[in-house]
Amino acid sequence: MKIICIGRNYANHAKEMKAAIPKVPMFFMKPDTALLPKRTPFYYPNFTNDLHFECEIVIRICKLGKNIDAKFAHEYYQEFSLGIDFTARDLQAQCKEKGHPWEIAKAFEYSAPLAEKFLNKKDYNLNQLKFSLVKNGEIVQEGNTKDMLFSIDKLISYTSQFMTLKIGDLIFTGTPEGVGPVHIGDHLEGYIENQKLLDLKIK
Ligand code: ZN
Repeated sequence: MKIICIGRNYANHAKEMKAAIPKVPMFFMKPDTALLPKRTPFYYPNFTNDLHFECEIVIRICKLGKNIDAKFAHEYYQEFSLGIDFTARDLQAQCKEKGHPWEIAKAFEYSAPLAEKFLNKKDYNLNQLKFSLVKNGEIVQEGNTKDMLFSIDKLISYTSQFMTLKIGDLIFTGTPEGVGPVHIGDHLEGYIENQKLLDLKIK
């Protein structure tokens, strides 16, 4: 399986990164080794001094497809959840400066912790879904899928032009504003609406 991550899908996050608001979706990838296995702690990587959280709605592809028309994209996912796109912001800045790919900053081991539980889209309004990240008891990110620049259906349609989407593939749909650093000892909790789905301690 593969993990596709959408960059700059919320205007206010693009602004806080001093990046242009994209006219077409922008994506990068993480390998399956970026998932944090169950009951494995997250250890702060030794190659960065500026690890940032990015809390994101994640959808799981349930049907094989390529060149999917946006009007049929809803058939290609049933479930969604919450994940963190951990980013070594210092390495990412160096990559951007040199015009290099982002993998060392984004695709490293365990850089994509994902909630164990997935929710069924039938039970929610995915076009207006609130989600949030709490760090050490304080809300640091609050997002709403209504603010996405490109809807989930558009993301599926766009990415499937370039690669076949397979059952089990994940799409991290982009982070809202409020990204920030974590430190050893921090406690992160992720919520969709009022339901806690993620609980992670940084060791
Ligand atoms: Zn992200």
